[in-house]
Amino acid sequence: MIIAGLTGGIASGKSTVSGFLSDAGALIIDADKIAREVVKQSTPGYEAILAVFDRMILLPDGEIDRKRLGDIIFNDPEKKSCLNAIVHPRVLERVNEMVARINTQTPEAVVIMDIPLLLESGLEKNLAEVIVVYVPETIQLERLMRRDGIDERAATARIRSQMPIEQKRNRATIVVDNSGGLSATRKQARAVYSRLKKRAQNPAK
Ligand code: ADP
Repeated sequence: MIIAGLTGGIASGKSTVSGFLSDAGALIIDADKIAREVVKQSTPGYEAILAVFDRMILLPDGEIDRKRLGDIIFNDPEKKSCLNAIVHPRVLERVNEMVARINTQTPEAVVIMDIPLLLESGLEKNLAEVIVVYVPETIQLERLMRRDGIDERAATARIRSQMPIEQKRNRATIVVDNSGGLSATRKQARAVYSRLKKRAQNPAK
């Protein structure tokens, strides 16, 4: 088994590349999806959040309104660390369980950890490779505006709130350049998969 991290900037094409790697045969562990699961209604994570936050953060169906929660913690660092202390250990536990299961069931698997804030959270130390999906900021801006239907000002603000993509690229061990067409990106993703697969089958290399 080999575990690589996958990250990028907002709208740089991380989901797109994750899909191509999955098509090639990689097993994807999606940190965002797990983060949503560990706070679903009637889980211990859900209860822990309600012990700290007002019930105003609930949607009519009782689930947590993540957008609302996001707005609250954006302006309140103390609440933010409180929320992280509830969510992060639970996500980590779940990830470790998944990795352990894959390691027994498919020991030659290529595992991709899809973690949006991989480099910001310092988790890259435990990974064999750090794959960064890169596009220059001008393309990032264009694609973000189109995908989310927002204007240039809003898109720029979202990009600026993140670690600059050039800085992420400098910390990558593998760069997927997504500034061309989808087929060029698919080709790169397949090449990355083959390279990782060889190492997964022969850990000495
Ligand atoms: P991320 O997951 O990094 O936020 P996405 O994979 O959602 O980014 O890509 C952002 C937007 O750009 C999406 O609308 C996607 O369809 C589009 N996109 C991604 N890669 C390309 C590409 N190579 N050419 C054109 N559009 C692309």
